[in-house]
Formats: sequence, C-alpha cells, structure tokens
Amino acid sequence: MKCKICRGEASIKLEAYNIKLCERDFLTFFERRITDAIKEYRMFSHQDRILLAASGGKDSLALWDVLFRLGYNVTGYHLDLGIPGSSEESLALCREFAQGKNGELVVDKLADILDGDIKQASIVMKKPACSVCGMIKRYRFNRLAEEKGFDVVVTGHHLDDEAAALLGNMLHWQEGYLARQYPVLQKRPGMVRKAKPLVYVSKKEIEIYARVRNIKFASSDCPYSQGATSIYYKKAVNQLEEDMPSTKIFFLKTFFSKYRGYFHEDKLEATGELHPCPECGYLTVADLCNFCFLKKRLAEKKAKKETSD
Ligand code: SF4
Ligand code: ZN
Repeated sequence: MKCKICRGEASIKLEAYNIKLCERDFLTFFERRITDAIKEYRMFSHQDRILLAASGGKDSLALWDVLFRLGYNVTGYHLDLGIPGSSEESLALCREFAQGKNGELVVDKLADILDGDIKQASIVMKKPACSVCGMIKRYRFNRLAEEKGFDVVVTGHHLDDEAAALLGNMLHWQEGYLARQYPVLQKRPGMVRKAKPLVYVSKKEIEIYARVRNIKFASSDCPYSQGATSIYYKKAVNQLEEDMPSTKIFFLKTFFSKYRGYFHEDKLEATGELHPCPECGYLTVADLCNFCFLKKRLAEKKAKKETSD
C-alpha cells in the first residue's frame, strides 16, 4: 500500500478519509487537523496561557504533546482521585510526561479537598460516579484557571466522545447540553473559556499518534467507567462508522454548522438567578454551589459516623 502524500510505503489506513499514509505523513495530517480546529473555532492563540486537563490517558497526553510541539504555553492539571489500582499509574504518567517535556503540572488530591472518595460522593449526591466526578473536576479546573489567570482550559475530548455525546443528547432531547455542545465555549460569568482541540480526530487516530510518538499512557481503566451510559452511545456510533465510514465527522460537523443554533443557551439557562456561592464565591443558581453542597454532605456524614463510633 502506498502513502497518498509521498508515494512511499504506507502503514496506516484511515477509512474515514479513504486514505493510506506513512507514519511521517500521518503525523503531519494529525497535527494539521488539530491546528485547523484551533483556528476554525478561534480556541486560543500563542499568547494565551492554557490549562490542560491531564488524566494520564492517551487523549490528554497526546493533546499535551501536540500543543507543546506547536509552541503553545500549556500547563497540565491532574486531579488524583485516589482510586486504588488506577490513580497511582495515572499520576505517575502525568508526572513523567511533564518532566520529559520540562513542562509544568499542577496536582490536586481529592483526599485533600473532600471528606470522602468518589464512591461516597456518588452515594451522598445520589448520582452516578462519573457525573459527580465530572462536576468535581470541572469545579476545581475552573477555579484554578480563574485564580491563576489562565485564559483557556482545554480537554482531550475527541471525535468519538463528541459524536456519542451528541447522539445521547439528541435521543433524550437534552436541550441545555445541545446548546453547550461546541468545540469552544466562550468565557462567561464564573466560567473561563473552554476548548476541545481534538474534536475532529478519532480515538483510533489518537492511538496511532501515541504509538508513533512513543507516548506512555495509562493502561488501566477507571473501575467506574464500566457503568457509564456513554458506552452505549459509543457502541452505536462505532457500529455506524464501521458500516458507513466518516459518519461521525459528518454528524458532528453538520450539527455545529447547521443545527446547533436552534438551541439557545440564554433562554434555557434562565431558570434562576446566578449568584455567588456563600461558601466559595463560585456562581450558582442554588443556595450552595454543587461542590460546596457535596463537601457539606460528606463532612456531615463523617461527623455523624464519628459520633456513632
Ligand atoms: Fe471519573 Fe468516571 Fe472518568 Fe472514572 S470513568 S475518572 S469516575 S469520570
Ligand atoms: Zn461553593
């Protein structure tokens, strides 16, 4: 098989684009897709300070690697969830990556900020572990970015994540989520700018990139990922992609360019007045922000247990 660009020996086949590439031209192709997304959606510039959510998985480390190579000013942020058998490896890989690039990494430990782990947090909030975990990460990530003056926060969400999320949001007509599903969300009160530079590269392409660039990433899955509903939507879009290559990218791009405008965030969010949380100052529509509410519930549970012991 011949590389479409250099006509040399190709080792990579990308069905979604119906092309075959050698490793060198694949790297150029991959990085170009990320640069194009950054420019198309005006995600950030070389003057911006970028905070990157680094989980230790292939997506965030591949993104970090590309942004370093493109000369952006990036700092990694890792939340150590303290999950036995998975968190140790994730943190070690983030540290190793940052050291190898001479980059900065900020680490938060869940145990230092809450009186409980993800499982206990999920129980007191009566929500799935991933939903509570996502809330905690967004809160800490956003607060840190605000406090330390970062211009934008970036995450490693990729094409497969976004296509699956879009399918799930459409199946349940989650209008608020549909309004907020976009490769970049501008700064608004209490929220820094958010961007997803990997929005147009697939999981498969990221895996190839990580292998060719020799990036070491976490091999153990978080034990809570098994119960996530997103798995079903991912299975469905993967099946469609296998039978009809390029379905994912068409689905997502068409939504962004033609249909997202039907969902108006301002209208949908007008359910309550935003005011600063009395505990932490984070903007919320409730009495306490979700994070402080969780913190309070866990502290109460701990105090109750101590009195009964
Ligand atoms: Fe958090 Fe769920 Fe991801 Fe585990 S799988 S790290 S609980 S969001
Ligand atoms: Zn708060």
